[in-house]
Amino acid sequence: MALEIVTVPCLSDNYAYLAHDAATGATAVVDVPEAAPILNALRERGWKASHILITHHHGDHIDGVPALAAATGARVIGAAADAHRLPPLDEAVAEGDVVRVGLASGVVIDVSGHTVGHVAFHFPESGVVFTADSLMALGCGRLFEGTAAQMWRSLEKLAALPPDTLVCSGHEYTAANARFARTIEPDNQALISRSDAVAEARAAGRPTVPSTLSEELATNPFLRAGLPGMKVAMGMTDASDAEVFAEIRARKDRF
Ligand code: ZN
Ligand code: FE
Repeated sequence: MALEIVTVPCLSDNYAYLAHDAATGATAVVDVPEAAPILNALRERGWKASHILITHHHGDHIDGVPALAAATGARVIGAAADAHRLPPLDEAVAEGDVVRVGLASGVVIDVSGHTVGHVAFHFPESGVVFTADSLMALGCGRLFEGTAAQMWRSLEKLAALPPDTLVCSGHEYTAANARFARTIEPDNQALISRSDAVAEARAAGRPTVPSTLSEELATNPFLRAGLPGMKVAMGMTDASDAEVFAEIRARKDRF
C-alpha cells in the first residue's frame, strides 16, 4: 500500500512531510524545521513518528530534530557524509541505500548542489520523492556548496524517475519561481497555466507542493536546460546541458 503523505507548513515558508504506512502505523517525518507543527499534525491524526529523514544540514530543515526525536523516540536517518554537521544519527546512509518505513522502502539519492551531502528519498512503490532544496516546485536550490555541474547531475537523476512521481520539496517559493521561469520561457503555455494555478492556490492560502515530476518537466526551467528549444531561447545552442543550467541558475541568482 502506498504511503499517505501529509504536507506540514513550518516557519515562514518551509515544508516538512509526514509519510504514513497504514499497514504498520510507521510514520516518517521528512525534515524538521521546528517540532511543534509536526507534533500537532501527528496528534491530529493519531500517528506516532517512528522515523525522521533528514535531507540536508541547513538549520531550517534540522533545528527541530532534537526536540522531535526526544518527544517520539523516532529513528533519525541522514547522510553519512554530513554526519558531522547533523543531529546524532541512528542510521547514516549514502546513495543507493534503502531506508525502511514500515513496509515501504525508500532509496537514497545523492542530490548534492545546494549543499554537498544533500540527499533525496525516493519511495518507488508509493511514487513519491522527497527533494527538499534540490528539485523544487518550478525551481531548484541555490548553489551554496556544490557546483552547477553537480546540481545538474542531481537534477538529471530526479528527472529520470517515473513522470507521475510526486515531488515533495522544501519551500513555498513557487510564486517567485514562476515569475522568474516566465522570463526564461515566456511562451511556454504549460508554464503560463501553472503560474495561474500557483497564484490561485496562494491567494486561497493553499501550498503549491507537492507537484508532480511531469509538471516540473513541462515547466521548471532548471530541469529543461538540456532541451534544444531551451538552448535556442538562451542563445546557447552550442553549450552543454550543464552550461545552460549554470546560466539559468546565475540569472535566477540575479533576479
Ligand atoms: Zn537548504
Ligand atoms: Fe531550506
